[in-house]
Amino acid sequence: MAIILDGNTLAKSIKKDIKSQVGNMMAPPGLAVIIVGDDPASHVYVKNKKKDCLACGITSHEFDLPEDTGQEKLLALIGKLNNDPNIHGILVQSPLPEGYNIQEVFQRISPKKDVDAFHINSAGGILRGEYSFLPCTPAGVIALLDHYNIDPMGKHCVVVGHSNIVGKPMAMMLLNRNATVTICHIHTADLAAHTRQADILVCAVGKLDLITADMVKPGAVVIDVGINRLENGKIRGDVDFEAVSEIASHITPVPGGVGPMTRAMLMLNTLNSALTCPQ
Ligand code: NAD
Repeated sequence: MAIILDGNTLAKSIKKDIKSQVGNMMAPPGLAVIIVGDDPASHVYVKNKKKDCLACGITSHEFDLPEDTGQEKLLALIGKLNNDPNIHGILVQSPLPEGYNIQEVFQRISPKKDVDAFHINSAGGILRGEYSFLPCTPAGVIALLDHYNIDPMGKHCVVVGHSNIVGKPMAMMLLNRNATVTICHIHTADLAAHTRQADILVCAVGKLDLITADMVKPGAVVIDVGINRLENGKIRGDVDFEAVSEIASHITPVPGGVGPMTRAMLMLNTLNSALTCPQ
């Protein structure tokens, strides 16, 4: 039976540590969270971020905007927050409703406050290994690996999923740790032939049970980033957890693996922004 990589416990201890550092600061860090429209899942994510801020002593500034706010007003708000000395991180909850240009929105956020690390400067910085912020989900995966002393150096890491926010930066961060990296995606022929080679397999797709036990090398470390909501409201990952945990050496559960680590990394990015650029 695989060792469970417990994101809940690690995230809790990271947040406790953040809270004690915030306690020593003159003023708490401020995180602005902007949500546009009424996507129910997005509202749940924003509520959780608020809870995390509270747990860390970070001041959360929530901007709950109606769907018809429009691109220009949204950009103007970000411009205002860029200049607000009480705000150290700005996050725009995605997806935005139809009609918004999310790339332009991400570009408007000052790179100094880009705690989600979606600005092109942050993305480019990861390529060079020079950055102020790392995207929260892949950073959370790396923190989890580090905590359990799983060193990617020299390992064959296979990342399934090549999105700009998870798959690509994940692959680059593993490469920066001197892993040999394969990136798979929807057009990859014979996915299983690749995943079976993985010493560390990271799956970030959003397809229930995409990764079955026959696709995993015995003893591999399996990281499940995927979130799939079942009809009964429960969430599951991309990996057939029951079967794969019989053959993997380590595995993340869903929920309780990468999700809480992502949230903890957002808090850490906000703290670091306030420490390095106190305004
Ligand atoms: P995305 O839709 O932008 O990208 C999905 C990726 O999966 C693409 O690269 C696509 O090519 C690939 N893909 C689709 N079908 C495939 C298949 N059959 N075989 C191989 N590759 C396939 O999604 P995303 O934003 O990168 O998120 C991926 C998953 O991770 C989603 O389930 C999302 O909810 C979840 N997620 C979780 C966290 C967390 O904190 N746990 C954070 C972000 C995203």
